[in-house]
Amino acid sequence: MVSRVIPVEPFDLVIFGGTGDLARRKILPALYLRHRDGQIPDDGRIIGAARSEMDAAGYRETVAEAVRQFVVPAKCEPEQLARFLERIDYVAIDATGTRGWGDLAERMRPDLAQAFYFSVGPALFGDLAERLHQHKIAGPRARIVVEKPFGHDLASARALNATLACHFDEHQIYRIDHYLGKETVQNLMAVRFGNMLFEPLWKNQYIDHVQITVAETVGVEGRGAYYDRSGAMRDMVQNHLMQLLCLIAMEPPSKFEPDAVRDEKLKVIRALQPVEADEIVRGQYQAGDGTASYRDDAENPDSRTESFIALKVHVANWRWNGTPFYLRTGKRMRARMSEIVVRFKEPPHSIFEEDTGQSANELAIRLQPNEGMDLTVTIKEPGPGGMRLVNVPLDMTFAEALGEEATDVPDAYERLIMDVIRGNQTLFMRGDEVEAAWAWTDQVVAAWEARGEKPVPYEAGSTGPEEALILMHRDARRWRELNT
Ligand code: NAD
Repeated sequence: MVSRVIPVEPFDLVIFGGTGDLARRKILPALYLRHRDGQIPDDGRIIGAARSEMDAAGYRETVAEAVRQFVVPAKCEPEQLARFLERIDYVAIDATGTRGWGDLAERMRPDLAQAFYFSVGPALFGDLAERLHQHKIAGPRARIVVEKPFGHDLASARALNATLACHFDEHQIYRIDHYLGKETVQNLMAVRFGNMLFEPLWKNQYIDHVQITVAETVGVEGRGAYYDRSGAMRDMVQNHLMQLLCLIAMEPPSKFEPDAVRDEKLKVIRALQPVEADEIVRGQYQAGDGTASYRDDAENPDSRTESFIALKVHVANWRWNGTPFYLRTGKRMRARMSEIVVRFKEPPHSIFEEDTGQSANELAIRLQPNEGMDLTVTIKEPGPGGMRLVNVPLDMTFAEALGEEATDVPDAYERLIMDVIRGNQTLFMRGDEVEAAWAWTDQVVAAWEARGEKPVPYEAGSTGPEEALILMHRDARRWRELNT
């Protein structure tokens, strides 16, 4: 299979926070890889802008180090890297002062597509937007890219939206949720809306339940103070898990276009019901073999913040009435794994004897590791004798179906940054979507705070608290194994 790389148009991309962790680990390596693939035209230029006092040569060294460190060695070719560095420029800037803004204004080419990546804390978004406007740097084709966390609750998200709206229209604002840039997530839409096979069955009549798991093996070490003000609900459910839920639950949009897709996602978020007290489990990891407990990592011995959460969520509409969505996410768990499982109902009547091994179909969509999908179906076990049934996966691992080249898919950041340059907002969150997600989240958080609930402890390296297993067992269901 030969992949087609269509170059984007010439652009100026400014990375505010260009020396920071996100820029070095994700944004710059992603840009290098797009350059290496021939997607960035000769006059595509990248300007780092950050507080550190250095010149362009010094910044190129930072960029080269980041590429060497975070791009797989096979793709880190000295010649390509040297050509990539020719695109790189740097301006030392103070987001809250006057330093550097004149320099930046001089370097911009106003007729080209412009992207301003706000890879800084949200407290600086307003200052950056204001100064881009004041120094007439942002031209009519300017777009801004903002990262999570987009607010801490509905009030702060609204305030951020209002701040950005002072100087930019909604069609210029790209709110990143990198989960939406993952190949499998987009494939989910292709599978749902590009086939006749699934969509007729995609409803409460045929689907028993949906599970969404995002498990991490790491703890919050190093980010403890930040995380302790956030927790799994705000840090993961409000954005990543919610977006995945939307893609599973939404109605078919009339077109694969930004507002058509986002309108449908918004309807799902607005249909989410408040979560009952017994449909939510919050946990904190304990100390493990050589690893600290959550409270030690967070440096807060009385912390009530959850490092794990499991919820049973109901989408109140005709399609999903009676089909729950179980969500769980946590840190310091047994495996690093993200997947969505769509569990179909048992056939209404079995013609086979009870112990023949028949089981319900399951569609598993794996985001990591091994991006791909598999569908388990029941077939006859080969061989003579009676009718014995066995469940086998119809495996749609991309590598096997499409050839090795297909596994070499761009990272989410590569795709999303190119979408910004192309001006395609389909995989970015709209302001009203983010606000609706916070409105639901706030209500869930306020309810557990009002009940005065504390998270329950769970063992490091486990599947989370026992209570999360019971949440499913009570409904005669169970989580899929956490495997890598
Ligand atoms: P960081 O602290 O490593 O880097 C911050 C950058 O901002 C530096 O380049 C610094 O020079 C610049 N900066 C800070 N104050 C400035 C000022 N007054 N004027 C000009 N530049 C200034 O932060 P980070 O980890 O790269 O995170 C950046 C943003 O991305 C944050 O909002 C963070 O929440 C978000 N984010 C980060 C990650 C990640 O993996 N690091 C993941 C998701 C979201």
